[in-house]
Amino acid sequence: MKKMYINGKWVSSATGQTREIINPFNQEVIAVVTEGNKDDAHRAIEAARKAFDEGEWRSVSATQRGYMLYQVAEKVKKCKTELAELETLDTGKTLEESKADMDEIAAVFQYYAGLADKDGGHVIDSPIPDTTSRIVREPVGVCGQITPWNYPLLQASWKLAPALAAGNTVVLKPSEITPLTTIKIAEIFDEIGFPQGVINIVLGSGQSVGAELANSHDVDLISFTGGGTTGRKIMQAASGNFKKISLELGGKNPNIVFDDADFDTAIDYAMNAVFFHAGQVCSAGARLIVHEYIHDQFVEKLVEKVKRIYMGSGFDKETEMGPVISKEHLDKILQYVEIGIEEGAALLVGGKRSLNPDLKNGFFMEPTIFANCHTNMRIVQEEVFGPVATVEKFKTEEEAVKIANSSVYGLAGAVWTQDMNRAERIVKELRMGTTWINDYHPYIPQAPWGGYKQSGIGRELGVTGLEEYTEVKHIFQNINPKPLRWFD
Ligand code: NAD
Repeated sequence: MKKMYINGKWVSSATGQTREIINPFNQEVIAVVTEGNKDDAHRAIEAARKAFDEGEWRSVSATQRGYMLYQVAEKVKKCKTELAELETLDTGKTLEESKADMDEIAAVFQYYAGLADKDGGHVIDSPIPDTTSRIVREPVGVCGQITPWNYPLLQASWKLAPALAAGNTVVLKPSEITPLTTIKIAEIFDEIGFPQGVINIVLGSGQSVGAELANSHDVDLISFTGGGTTGRKIMQAASGNFKKISLELGGKNPNIVFDDADFDTAIDYAMNAVFFHAGQVCSAGARLIVHEYIHDQFVEKLVEKVKRIYMGSGFDKETEMGPVISKEHLDKILQYVEIGIEEGAALLVGGKRSLNPDLKNGFFMEPTIFANCHTNMRIVQEEVFGPVATVEKFKTEEEAVKIANSSVYGLAGAVWTQDMNRAERIVKELRMGTTWINDYHPYIPQAPWGGYKQSGIGRELGVTGLEEYTEVKHIFQNINPKPLRWFD
């Protein structure tokens, strides 16, 4: 049985309960892990509190923190294959994707390792004579971090690396269905010798462990990645002690294709945008918005390519798309297909669980395309989080922007055109945290990531991602103090 990591020790939950971790490819049990609860979360928060308020971590320099994060990056690179295999077992994604995740995770730790000691604050030109004014950034304190199942270790790295670079202590709860790589990285932190209590990993459900992190008055900041319904609960709970809050929520992201776009490249990226990781990506390009001149040809080509997507085990080199994460999730996606049909969208391909007998034990959803879609349909508005694309048609630039922005979400979006002035005009109008021109999906550790509107609050990655984990302090000094004599 795999244990959790609290106060520098590997421990079982107070109740002795366990949870089986299932491989979504074949439903086999791949591990048994301890199942923590509210009390375990409480113990971890206490340890993180003590480590922040009284521990040796306070005196570890920013340079040393950076060096420790650099060591994490190096160890992730070294354990890349082992970590990638675990991630594929746990999520069903292809090994190639998992390996790319590990490269990106190492890059995130390396980036924040470099950033840790680069900003010692700045001096303000004080308007009051004989005074100096300085602005410094300090760690926030104890950070609660909650991650989802689609990119288990990648999402953890986006939170752990900046929090530690800034000098905070953390209690992280991975998704209860995909904890394996997060447990492994706790081993890496342990080997490097982060002081006791600085990093705590608590396993367990959202309702018990996650809710305790959001509720506890000993937690100063909560950073959450997941769905909006949970995000809302966390925001309410966080108000108890006015925690700082960062929410990375869902998206229903538009991918706009103009008639002058490079047709083959736009098709290729459109496929990748929506079917990568079986569409279980917050920034998936699930809303295709295609110019009327090329619409029919575009859809025809898309359907032809979708029919050829090879589904299978993440460990099979031929596999292009793995299973979705669970039976519940597959059922939710199938329900959305029903909704799309009822709303009058045209189901062109897919729409059901795979009938391939080789895949019968896994949660395989056929890649699906709906055409004749309209902005007001639920299939267009709501996040399906699976391999389902909707296609809408547009005539003018203004109409494309209007359709793209007609969403409660605002995470990401793309535009395909060879007219760069038009591309600039479009991205200027898009109400989204990330916009791509003639590309889809890339993010870089150096640039912030996060959503407008109901896609979230705050940003991860980049310098902004580090600043989220800091408080700002103004230090004002009188260099020539003399009595004021006001009350003389
Ligand atoms: P989820 O909200 O069900 O769960 C996310 C995490 O929250 C899990 O660890 C879960 O245990 C925990 N949780 C559940 N209930 C909780 C509660 N009451 N209090 C505290 N924690 C609780 O989401 P999911 O199904 O794991 O992930 C899918 C969602 O995540 C999608 O909506 C997706 O768009 C979003 N996501 C967003 C980004 C981003 O960067 N914006 C990245 C990845 C995923």
